[in-house]
Amino acid sequence: MPGMDGLQLAGAIRAHERDSGAHVPIITISAAPLPDHIVPGQDGGADDFLLKPIDLPALRHMLARWLAPGAPGAARQAPAILDPSFLTLGLAGVDAGQARELVDLFTACARDDLLACRNAIGQSGARMLPQYMHKLKSSARMVGAARFVALAESVEARAPGGAALDAAMLDELEAALDEVESAAGALGRACREAGAAPGHDAALPRAVLVVDDDPVARRQLAMMLAAIGVPQVRLVASAQEALALLAREDGIELVISDLNMPDQDGIELLRELAARACDQRLILVSGIDERTLGTAAELARAMGLRLCGTLGKPVRLAALDSLLRLPCVATAAPGAARSISAADLADGLRRDQFSVHFQPKVDAATLRPVGVEALARWQRDGEAVAPDLFIALAERHGLIAQLSEALLAKALVGAARLAERGFELHLSVNVSASWLSDLRLPEFILASTRAVGIAPAQVVLEVTETGLMSDALTALDVLARLRLKGYTLSIDDFGTGYSSMSQLRRIPFGELKLDRSFVHGATDKPASRAILASSIEMARKLGLTTVAEGVETRADLDLLRGLGCDQVQGWFVARAMPLEQLLNWLEARPVSCNGSGERT
Ligand code: C2E
Ligand code: CA
Ligand code: CA
Repeated sequence: MPGMDGLQLAGAIRAHERDSGAHVPIITISAAPLPDHIVPGQDGGADDFLLKPIDLPALRHMLARWLAPGAPGAARQAPAILDPSFLTLGLAGVDAGQARELVDLFTACARDDLLACRNAIGQSGARMLPQYMHKLKSSARMVGAARFVALAESVEARAPGGAALDAAMLDELEAALDEVESAAGALGRACREAGAAPGHDAALPRAVLVVDDDPVARRQLAMMLAAIGVPQVRLVASAQEALALLAREDGIELVISDLNMPDQDGIELLRELAARACDQRLILVSGIDERTLGTAAELARAMGLRLCGTLGKPVRLAALDSLLRLPCVATAAPGAARSISAADLADGLRRDQFSVHFQPKVDAATLRPVGVEALARWQRDGEAVAPDLFIALAERHGLIAQLSEALLAKALVGAARLAERGFELHLSVNVSASWLSDLRLPEFILASTRAVGIAPAQVVLEVTETGLMSDALTALDVLARLRLKGYTLSIDDFGTGYSSMSQLRRIPFGELKLDRSFVHGATDKPASRAILASSIEMARKLGLTTVAEGVETRADLDLLRGLGCDQVQGWFVARAMPLEQLLNWLEARPVSCNGSGERT
C-alpha cells in the first residue's frame, strides 16, 4: 500500500498495544511470498500470512486458527513442524498419498542438500552454500514445514549467505528434518481425499514443460497441473535441459520456469528463448521478492515473449489455474524488429531518412529551459520506426558509427541555429556504447563541434551505463579524453544498468539522468521514490547535476522538486519536436532563456 505498507502497519499496531497488553491477531496479505527475512509470528508485527488471490478455504483456515474457540487466538503460536492444512489448501485437489509423497521428497532432497553442505564447509564448494540454503527454505515452505523454515532462517541470520555455516548449525537443521519426517507419518489421514480427475478442458494447454532445479517444486507443479487437467507434463531441472527438450520435441505449448536456478538462471533462459523466437507461452515462478519477479516479467515482455504472468512460491493452485487459461499474446512485436534489415538501414541512411527532434530540459524550480536533448527519428516510407529499435539494429549490424555521425551533424546544426536565434542552450546527444569503441571518436566529435561554431562546454554526451560494459578500457579512454576536451559527460538511464556505482567512481561524469521508469508515477511507488531520493542525494554528494526524464505530470514534477532534483525533462514540459517547432515553443515562453543554465 502506498504511504505505509502492511508490515509497517502491523508494527505500529503492536507498538500501540504495548501499554494495554492486548494482542489482536494480524494476518498480512500479499500477491508475493514474504521476503525471506520476514517470518510471520516471529517478527514484531504480523502473526500470519495469506497469499493473493485468496481462496476461501485458506481464509477459513486462518480464521479458525486465530479465532475459533479453544484456538490459541491472540496467543503466539510456535511454527508448526508440518502444517498439513498448508498442503491440502495450497494444493487443493492433491490427495493424501501425493501430499505424503511431496513431504517425503522434501525430506530426502533436504538430507542430500544438508550432506552436500557438510561436505562443502571449508572447501571450494562453500560458495554454493547460499544456493543450498535458499533451496532448502523454499522447498520447506512449499510443504508447510514451518519450523524448519524458521530454523533455516535463524541459521542464515547467524551465518549470512551461508558463509560461516558450521557443523553444529547443520546438526540443528538435521534434527529439525527428523521432526518433519516423523510428523509426515501422521499425514495420510490429515489430507483431503482427491476429487475425480477433470476431463481435458480446451482452454488449457495440452503439454506443459516445467523447469525448476528443486525436485520438490517440480513434483508439486506436476501434481497441480495434473489436478487442473493438463494431460501432458514434462519436467526438467535446468535451462540447458529445457532448451534441448524444446529443440527435440514439438507440442509443448507452455513453459513454466523458475527464475532462481544455479548455472543458468531463468533470465538467461528467457534470453535464449527469445533468441530462438520461441512461441510457447510462458509463466515465471520464483520465491524471490515481487519486484524482481516484476522486472523479469517486464524483460520477458520486452523480448517479445508470450508471458502469461508470474507466480510466487509456493505456487497456489487457484492462481496457477487462472494463468493457464490466459491466451497471452506477445506485447512487444519482435516481428517488426526482424522485418527491418541492415540493408533497409543502409538504404535509409543513403536516402537521408533520419532526422533529430529536440526535447527541452528545464530547470526544475523555475521551469526555465536550460538545454535540449537530440533524439533520433526515422521516417521510413511514411512510417515512424522507434529509435530504440533502429539504434539497436544499427549497433548489431556495424552501422552505428555511420548513423551516429549523421545524427550528430544534424543535432549540432540544430544547436547552432538555436544559438543564432539567441537561445544559448546546452545540447545533449546520446552516444551509443558501440560508438565508444572507436579511439578516434574524441577528435571526430571535437572537429564536428568546432565546424558549427559551438563550444564543447555547451555539449552534453549521454552515455548509458550498460553500454560501458562491452569494451570498458577503450570506452574509458575515449570518455576521459572527451572530458578533457571540455564536454560534459552524462550517465543516462541511471539505475537500470549494471555496476552504476563503480561507473560513477571511474568515469568523470558531470550529470546524472534518472531513468523515466523510476520517475513517472513515483509518488505512488515507494520503491521508485526511494531510488530517486537516494540517487539524487548521492549525485549531490558527488557534485553531479541531476536530470529527471519522463516527467509526465504535475505530481511527478512536485515530487522531484521536493527531492531536490536540478532539472526535468518530459511530456509535462514538452515532447520532442522538430527544430522549427522548438523555436516557436521557446519564443512563446514567458521567461527569456538566453544564456541560462550555467553548468558547474
Ligand atoms: P533516452 O536517451 O532515455 O531518451 C529519452 C526517451 O524518453 C525518448 O524516447 C523520449 O522521447 C522519451 N520521453 C521523453 N519524455 C517522456 C515522458 O514524459 N514520458 C515518456 N513515456 N517518455 C518520454 P525516444 O525518442 O523513443 O528514444 C528512445 C531511446 O532511443 C533513447 O532513450 C535513446 O536511448 C535512444 N536514442 C534516441 N536517439 C538517439 C540517438 O541519436 N543516438 C543514440 N545512440 N541513441 C538514441
Ligand atoms: Ca538520453
Ligand atoms: Ca532513459
